[in-house]
Amino acid sequence: MNLNCSRLGSLLFLLSASSAFAHEDQSKPVITMDMKENEKGKKIAYMYIDGVKVHETDPSKQPFPEVVTPGTVPAAPPSDAIILFDGSDESFRKNWTNTKGKESQWKIVNGALESVKRAGYLKSVGKFGSCQLHLEWASPVQVEGDGQGRGNSGVFLMGIYEVQVLDSYENQTYADGQAGALYGRSKPLVNAARKPGEWQTYDIIFHRPLFDDAGKVTRRATFTVLHNGVLVQDHTVLSGGTGWRGPHAATDYKAHADKLELTLQDHGNPVRFRNIWLRELKD
Ligand code: MG
Repeated sequence: MNLNCSRLGSLLFLLSASSAFAHEDQSKPVITMDMKENEKGKKIAYMYIDGVKVHETDPSKQPFPEVVTPGTVPAAPPSDAIILFDGSDESFRKNWTNTKGKESQWKIVNGALESVKRAGYLKSVGKFGSCQLHLEWASPVQVEGDGQGRGNSGVFLMGIYEVQVLDSYENQTYADGQAGALYGRSKPLVNAARKPGEWQTYDIIFHRPLFDDAGKVTRRATFTVLHNGVLVQDHTVLSGGTGWRGPHAATDYKAHADKLELTLQDHGNPVRFRNIWLRELKD
């Protein structure tokens, strides 16, 4: 590419101007430019993004992405997943407790974890922040109750932000409380529910909220959710908390730790879960 000096100068000026802007906005990468002669004496523009040269080949400066072997079945955990439940009693006891950190009264039925009325929420032993989470769930075959009373449970990222689990197959309730909803905050794009008793999948990409020292939220949480492989939350920015604050109000954001336990809700219905795994994501 031929660039005369003035055009190159203005290009560098624009780049340095955008670089100055980048410093003001932490979410943007910092771009810098450098003119250097190569081994043949030709002047080359070197561009750096966040301090790393474009097309850098030295892995000590630009590490290669880790090789991850995908699972053979789409829902099977990839090689770098943290397995939270594989159907065995051992993985249940190793990875889950009740909310008090004691042995949970939830039970294993045919390799699935079943919610037991009044046993309380199930809490993971591990603590997690931003993550990719996969799990499968099934509402009871025997249909009982309606609306929010039918096959209700929930997946609480960081124990706080609920992706609703509900038997939403021909079961009407408020849209922001049906399966795939961010409870009270965002209804799913579509209703991708399977019939009662059938196994359903959730694939959730969650980025935790960030808070400043005063406890004010500086970056709200985001959710991308696929329900049975269908997109139901498309990088949804969570406008606040999903906790109950009366029939038409949800809780606000409240500052919390960077990593917290994942919880599954006991809402009094025998909802089952299986094949639970996650991959931690960097912020
Ligand atoms: Mg729920």
